[in-house]
Amino acid sequence: MMFAEIIIDITNKNVDKIFHYMVPDSLKENILIGMRVIVPFGKGNRMREGYIIGFTDTTDIDYNSIKQIHSLPDSYSIFNENMIRLAKFMKDKYYCSLSECLQCIMPKIMQDKTNRYANINYENKDIYTLIDKILKKDNQQSKVLKFLLKNDNASVYEIKNLLNISLSPIQTLEKNGVIKITTKKINRNAINIEKYDKTINLKLNEEQQEAFNFIKTKIGSDENKPILLHGVTGSGKTEIYLQLIDEVLKQNKQAIVLVPEIALTPQTVERFIGRFGEKVSVTHSRLSDGERFDQWKKAKDGQTQIMVGARSAIFTPFENLGIIIIDEEHEATYKSESTPKYNVKEIAEEICKLTKATLLLGSATPSIETYYKASNKEYELVTINTRVNKNMPDINIIDMRKELERGNMSIFSIPLFEAIKENLKNNMQTILFLNRRGHSTFVSCRKCGYVMECKNCNVSYTYHLKEHRLICHYCNDIQNVPENCPSCNSKYIKYFGVGTQKIEEQIKKYFKDARVMRMDMDTTSKKNSHQDILEDFKNHKADILIGTQMIAKGLDFPKVSLVGVISADITLNTGDYKSSENTFQILTQVAGRAGRADIKGKVFIQTYTPEHYSIKFAKNNDYKGFYEKEILERKTMFYPPFSNIFFIMISGENENMVIKAINFLHSVMSYYNQKTNFYISDVAKAYIYKLNKQFRYKIIIKAGEEERLKNFVIYCVDILKNKMDTSKINIILSLNPNYIQ
Ligand code: ADP
Ligand code: ZN
Ligand code: ZN
Repeated sequence: MMFAEIIIDITNKNVDKIFHYMVPDSLKENILIGMRVIVPFGKGNRMREGYIIGFTDTTDIDYNSIKQIHSLPDSYSIFNENMIRLAKFMKDKYYCSLSECLQCIMPKIMQDKTNRYANINYENKDIYTLIDKILKKDNQQSKVLKFLLKNDNASVYEIKNLLNISLSPIQTLEKNGVIKITTKKINRNAINIEKYDKTINLKLNEEQQEAFNFIKTKIGSDENKPILLHGVTGSGKTEIYLQLIDEVLKQNKQAIVLVPEIALTPQTVERFIGRFGEKVSVTHSRLSDGERFDQWKKAKDGQTQIMVGARSAIFTPFENLGIIIIDEEHEATYKSESTPKYNVKEIAEEICKLTKATLLLGSATPSIETYYKASNKEYELVTINTRVNKNMPDINIIDMRKELERGNMSIFSIPLFEAIKENLKNNMQTILFLNRRGHSTFVSCRKCGYVMECKNCNVSYTYHLKEHRLICHYCNDIQNVPENCPSCNSKYIKYFGVGTQKIEEQIKKYFKDARVMRMDMDTTSKKNSHQDILEDFKNHKADILIGTQMIAKGLDFPKVSLVGVISADITLNTGDYKSSENTFQILTQVAGRAGRADIKGKVFIQTYTPEHYSIKFAKNNDYKGFYEKEILERKTMFYPPFSNIFFIMISGENENMVIKAINFLHSVMSYYNQKTNFYISDVAKAYIYKLNKQFRYKIIIKAGEEERLKNFVIYCVDILKNKMDTSKINIILSLNPNYIQ
């Protein structure tokens, strides 16, 4: 007798029970672990969808009442055994349900219960008349139609979600013959291989070769400690990845490559497809759910051997994984901020334990935690100290206080200004970096000092030039710029603080002939706009690229010989324990964009705190020096990697209710802490204390042991939930989050 262990209705967060079903003889031959099933459920035996997470020979259920699996909708399994083990690992580690973990692992579109796809019905003779008629209106049907005119063969699930509508307008369109809904999907090709130039293995230099040889011997061996590849920017790490993957393919294995951000995806993707062509699948958030599913399915079916993508690519179900490469491993995007709040590096380590694949972490500026593990021999360490072109950029620190003293009120220091001029004359390209979008970061009355603050959040509005509007960067509230001060009615409204739009405006004012492009969240909202901007810049259609952190990393443009950092102080003043690390990283990364080919790069970093160690070590390109100083700091302050931090935030519209709840939780924790002796902070307002009309309060707990800390917090929060009505507040729990504010 065979019974299947089944999780039912995976989208219901609270159902976390495993049910036993009998496998009928007719299905025995085709049934696999990880498959989707249709089963009768509950008193009425309504058909529900579930997933098989295991088989067993015994069950407690009475033989007469055990139900049978009705059918198998797919011919393949969604999860392999390792994926199910991984889900169980995640459930324990990230304090969430098994359903939530399985949901996170599988492609989003699988949750579309029916897998139905919509297309415009061009076979209908009157189709154009119908389209015209519907498009004249502004309703849900016209929305769907507009979407389909741009996206063929979109899934019904996707349309509903993206447009935030119900099924009914889609059904009406179908009924009237405007669209056709099919269950068979047409193969979409998200990547057009023809577009990419083919490349071949470069001859590695000595340092590269040594690194390569070392890592190569680890692939497929029993010794599988994770490896940190610490190589300065432009040291040819990517070329090493490419050749390692070549090795992996020769062993008939597969590779997963994680890259942190969409912005650098086009260039990275280009390099992987250029080398491996149709062996590559790609996935990232700019693809539609359907496109991502296709990439996933190709990898699963063995049609592709390499998956390149952002965080979620880690869940690619390859049969014989050889290597996982995490590029720019220090990036915050590798930690998910939504449930399950997983850290992709931890997941990758677990997968490598399960599959014996090699884990390779690469960075020019490894995270303090990772480098600490490497120093402790928990990880292997491979270092590359020189650039391929032997040319590290010259980094100059500009003390902006001195600029003020000599009467320079502009946002450009004189040395940076002169360097931009010189670079334009030499027909070379410049990157200007500022980690703040918009035009002016706050708007204030000169007479009484009143600052325009968002009505929903306690942050000031940012002025946007193009729209001539005030926008809240946290809740997206938009306001007109007042003519008079709302407080004293004076006419002296003034704009302060610098964002990327202002740099653009100033550059255009001073350098009239320069061709300027800007890349930030405001210029990249459309699909492919990232790619278009980078492509144009690469082809020298602009001389100066201005941007936020989107342009700081991973870009490799040979004609960029000058980089200017408009203000290094923004990341320093975030009030977070990682602010020094983040500043060092971003300065090193952005400086690394300069002089990557044969011309020596120049970098100017403007700051009001030139004495800060993050800035000094970045100037000297001294990662080790920075690490030694920072790790001491962490040790003294009992921060990670010496402790684990649990960040607890309670928010809600009713401030009194929030305060009552968090104070109660704090007292429960203090009481039970007599035994555990963790460090528990006082209750405090969050860094942004009011966000989207919600008041936010926090508690921070630090402890050595992760497991005990987790149990402690969950235990205390459960007491809170039992003793108080928590339906009108949000309790946010985050273990070792990216930001503690
Ligand atoms: P990283 O990933 O460490 O920042 P890249 O792999 O982007 O460095 O390499 C920097 C530049 O050097 C790229 O343009 C790359 O094509 C080139 N490069 C890398 N390795 C070699 C090599 N062995 N010979 C010649 N050029 C190389
Ligand atoms: Zn005023
Ligand atoms: Zn707001």
